[in-house]
Amino acid sequence: MATANRMVQKGSTGPDVKMLQGLLNQKVPLPKLPLGKKLVEDGIFGSKTDAATRTFQQMKGLKADGIVGPKTWSALGVTYTGPGAIPVAPPAGKPKFEEKQAKDGFDGAVNPPWQMVPMNEQKTVILKNAADLNVVSRNPSIATVEDVPKCFVHGGRELIIKGKAKGTTFIDVKNGATTLASLEVAVKTKKMIRASFHLVEDNAGHKTSRSTGSIDAWVKTMNDILLPQANVQVIKQRAISVKINKNLGAVVRFSSHLPGVPASEHEWDLVTAKGDGAADFNVFFVWEYEQDINPNHDDTDAGTLGKNCIFEDNAGTNVGDTLTHELGHTLGCGDLYGAADKPLLMYGITDQRGQKVNKAHANTMNP
Ligand SMILES: [Zn+2]
Repeated sequence: MATANRMVQKGSTGPDVKMLQGLLNQKVPLPKLPLGKKLVEDGIFGSKTDAATRTFQQMKGLKADGIVGPKTWSALGVTYTGPGAIPVAPPAGKPKFEEKQAKDGFDGAVNPPWQMVPMNEQKTVILKNAADLNVVSRNPSIATVEDVPKCFVHGGRELIIKGKAKGTTFIDVKNGATTLASLEVAVKTKKMIRASFHLVEDNAGHKTSRSTGSIDAWVKTMNDILLPQANVQVIKQRAISVKINKNLGAVVRFSSHLPGVPASEHEWDLVTAKGDGAADFNVFFVWEYEQDINPNHDDTDAGTLGKNCIFEDNAGTNVGDTLTHELGHTLGCGDLYGAADKPLLMYGITDQRGQKVNKAHANTMNP
């Protein structure tokens, strides 16, 4: 579509006047043009062009003043971009917050959407359909908001939210006094988890096949998942071998909650007694673990109760993910089994779960 960036009238010259003359020649019937002749398309706005312009304006029900401004250009099929241009309609759709990157503490499944921001750090979120709208924090002493100084092809804005003090506030998208959309922001202080890892063996030669050499990589995975989403940091306190002075058999059992299982099979306490009293999370790697009435059916990979977690060798391939999931239990989160829960860290099935920590779990892990 042709564009014009100024108003023209008698006395104006230039390519836009030439374009105007061409359009008037197309749109005004020949008998109505001065002397019944086509205008000369010379780019000079003279008396004949002025008369043809007024005729065209009359035809269109516009004020016949000979001034080709926004309305007359528009009636000629030309997009007017100059002074006094009618503003373009605001983008369709409601303003919408979206995550800038996955697993970075944004939960779009809740209303309003939610973003975790570590105290004294910042997060970036995307805001769509809000090109010229005002974005404000309800409580800048908890979190501030500012635009990323950058242009975007897709019309979205990027907002930097900075965590100033522990607490909850909202980022509002305003049109005048009306709030069109909000983002809940939870600023969290860092929660440190001291984790100790124990490679278990018994006095009959049963022992875990795991080695301490893998543990740092698992701790890194735990921090990759939990730091950006819940501001929880895992610190390895110790990684040692521990020996239980008893034959635990082929299966280490948690059975004291089960009726009819002999006391000699209540092995949880024997193992967890070897834990680190100063740790927030004690992991015991064993060869095989079960916690139900049928110890010969391998249907449990790990069990977590309080600060203790017994974790078998055959606990899937994503060991770092599973350890993080078990720490989620220690921090108060339960398992989820819905089909929609699969992307979540707290999905209950090993190696089918994702790494996402949602608002509810982040707030449970690090209130
Ligand atoms: Zn679980």
